[in-house]
Amino acid sequence: MSIKSRSDIPAARRIVVKVGSSSISGENAHQIEKLVTALAEAHGRGSEVVLVSSGAMATGFPYINLTSRPTDLPTLQAAAAVGQSRLIFRYQELLDNWNIVAGQVLLTSGDFDNESTRSNAALAMEKLLELRVLPIVNENDTVATQEIRFGDNDHLAALVAQLVTADVLILLSDVDGIYTKPPHEPGAERIEHVSSGELLEHVEFGSIGAAGVGSGGAGTKVAAAQFAAQSGTAVLITNAALVSSALRGENVGTWFDAASS
Ligand code: GLU
Repeated sequence: MSIKSRSDIPAARRIVVKVGSSSISGENAHQIEKLVTALAEAHGRGSEVVLVSSGAMATGFPYINLTSRPTDLPTLQAAAAVGQSRLIFRYQELLDNWNIVAGQVLLTSGDFDNESTRSNAALAMEKLLELRVLPIVNENDTVATQEIRFGDNDHLAALVAQLVTADVLILLSDVDGIYTKPPHEPGAERIEHVSSGELLEHVEFGSIGAAGVGSGGAGTKVAAAQFAAQSGTAVLITNAALVSSALRGENVGTWFDAASS
C-alpha cells in the first residue's frame, strides 16, 4: 500500500526499523525490551518487519575490557565480532516471548554495489519475510574498511529499505526528530513534515547520539532519509523511546514523504 502519512504506518505491508548503538546500550540498555515489544506488535498485526540494529561494538566493549570507544579499526572490528553474537542472542531471547524467530543478516556496502551479492541478499530477505522471520541486519564490521564503513547504519538502513522496497523506514535515535537547530539551543523547533524534494537548507545540524558509543548524527540521518524517500520509501525519524507510538501511527518525529513513482 502507499504510505502517505504517519497514520498509515499500522497498515504498512513492509517496515524497516533502524536503531543506533546509543539507544540500546549503556544506560539505555533497557530500551531494547521496549523496542522488541513494539516490533512484535507490528509483526503481530501482519506487517513484515526488518530491524537494522547497530550496537555490536558497544555490546562487545566490556567483554574485551574497554570502557570507551577505541579509535583503531581492528579493535572496533574485534569488539563487533564479540558483541554481535551477544546482541542477536539478546534480541532472540526477547523475541521468544512472541514466538518470533530472528535471522541475522550482515552486509557491507560492497554487497549493494555488486549485482550478484545484491540480488542474493534481496532473495534471502524475501524468503526470510515470507517465512515470517524477523531479519536483524547489521554491517559486517569485520570486513568493512574505514572508507567504506556505514558508521552508525543510517545509510545501511536506507539501502536495506530500498533493497526490500519497504513502505516505510523508521530511524530511531536519542532525540525526538529533526530540529531547526541543535535541540538544546533556544528556539529549536521540531520539523514535523518534510515534503518530497525539500532540501532543509535552513537546518543547522548538531549531533545525535550519546558521545562515545555510536557514530551517527542528525546530518547522516537526514541524508539517509532523503535517499530512502527518493527511492520511494516514506521515512520517520524519532526517538527510540517513542518506537511504539511511532509504529502505532501517532504524531511523533519528523516525517519525510516518499517521492511518488
Ligand atoms: N555496525 C556497528 C555496530 O553495530 C556500527 C557502530 C558504529 O560505528 O558506531 O556496532
